[in-house]
Amino acid sequence: MTTSPFDLTGKIAIVTGANTGIGQAIAVALAAAGADVACVGRTPAEETVAEIRALGRNAEVISADLSTIEPVGRVVDETVAKLGGLDILVNNAGIIRRADAVDFTEEDWDAVVDTNLKSVFFLCQAAGRHMIAHGGGKIINIASMLTFQGGIRVPSYTASKSGIGGLTKLLANEWASKNINVNAIAPGYIATNNTAALQADEARNKSILDRIPAARWGDADDLGGAAVFLASNAAKYVQGHILAVDGGWLAR
Ligand code: NAP
Repeated sequence: MTTSPFDLTGKIAIVTGANTGIGQAIAVALAAAGADVACVGRTPAEETVAEIRALGRNAEVISADLSTIEPVGRVVDETVAKLGGLDILVNNAGIIRRADAVDFTEEDWDAVVDTNLKSVFFLCQAAGRHMIAHGGGKIINIASMLTFQGGIRVPSYTASKSGIGGLTKLLANEWASKNINVNAIAPGYIATNNTAALQADEARNKSILDRIPAARWGDADDLGGAAVFLASNAAKYVQGHILAVDGGWLAR
């Protein structure tokens, strides 16, 4: 029997922000493809762990507030101790703050950049050290349409997600020769807590929908296949790529 190139049996993944939204959907999709998953975040991902165990895979909750880099080393160590290794890192946890650029505060700048960019880099570093020492791995960062576009009223979010694009390419350049694939997924407009304010704003909701060729908001589940692909052997020669899963938004 030939094994599917998308098979993740025996692989061990970290997914940050796995209790809800895109992170939860990606954690379950990786498990459905065969991976065991460390569900990392500040709200315990009990529901996600239960779903993964129901699929017959192993899963553990790892508590970590990624607004600082304090927990990054422990997250990797606990994953290895509880699940037996680390092959896949999905940097999904993220926040957004909205205000006009002229009113934007330092607190809203630091909170978003620290969580969405600084902690992502240092978790990549901690995971990368383990992967280099153990023959390789896969890193998937969650980018955004604002990795490519400017957006409006979200200056620190745009800066952080544009930074994710550059960081993903830099790490691919340094680590491709070490058998580590570093790529990103850029979700389009996905119906989660992160976009609740946009969905609730009738005018913004309409203007967003009018621009999406698929004519609907994405579901978190729409991201699962892209994550499985980038985490799998099928993507072994894919490096530094930012894969848009956006219902055609960027094609418009
Ligand atoms: P969400 O439902 O708000 O989920 C965000 C996740 O990040 C939650 O699990 C949250 O945990 C976690 N998180 C936030 N701050 C954290 C911290 N300090 N420490 C640990 N975990 C933290 O939003 P989502 O839409 O699924 O977003 C997931 C990722 O996709 C984010 O990076 C976001 O920027 C990106 N994204 C989303 C969209 C979209 O349209 N929804 C589009 C492009 C990119 P808590 O539940 O404890 O807060």
